[in-house]
Amino acid sequence: MNNNKYKILVVEDEDNICKFISALLEANGYQAIIAKTCLMAQSMFSSYIPDLIILDLGLPDMDGMNFLNYVRETSLTPIIVLSARSDESDKVNALDSGANDYVTKPFSTAELLARVRSSLRNSRHSADDGHFPGRKFLLGGLVIDYDARRVFLQNVEVKLTQTEYNIVALLSEHCGKVMTYSSIIKTIWGHPDGGSIKKLQVNMANIRKKLRDKPGGSNYIINELGVGYRMNNEESD
Ligand code: CA
Repeated sequence: MNNNKYKILVVEDEDNICKFISALLEANGYQAIIAKTCLMAQSMFSSYIPDLIILDLGLPDMDGMNFLNYVRETSLTPIIVLSARSDESDKVNALDSGANDYVTKPFSTAELLARVRSSLRNSRHSADDGHFPGRKFLLGGLVIDYDARRVFLQNVEVKLTQTEYNIVALLSEHCGKVMTYSSIIKTIWGHPDGGSIKKLQVNMANIRKKLRDKPGGSNYIINELGVGYRMNNEESD
């Protein structure tokens, strides 16, 4: 028994999906623990203290949101929500309630594993008091100096406006996590107004141009359509 393995609690009631996910996780060096109801998930969460939770929202006894709220009362354990629902408001609701990420069914194995790696990496960063060594954020060729409020790309300074800088810094502090439009707007501008989404989109378009993000490329900032933005913490290969 190798207890260096990350423990992942899979909360899902459908047998086929359960088997598929746990086989996938075990094959990739993780330990999978299965719970098929909200109540079972609560007791397994306390007894196993998992490193990550993969949570289906449609459970037989209660809505998966109940378990999400239960975990967030006491813990920052990363949670990836598994949703068959195409309704964006469910994802936004789960993210705003503290989920770190979501995957929509049907998903590919590569996609799920990428989200798992990303969430685990994100939680290791956050464990460091939310700060990075020397108050600097490093990601590929991107460097953010939080004290100087300056951003560098391949050692060349990227000239950002104050608002653009604030957005980049916010996303980097939650690197790997999807930030919903409303959570970004609230942090950057305070109370949202009618033009908030448009303002965010305009700023984001400028930021992505300055960071040389291209559609389909290996980008620093990913647009999660209809939901929000995520700073990508996957190593590109
Ligand atoms: Ca289900």
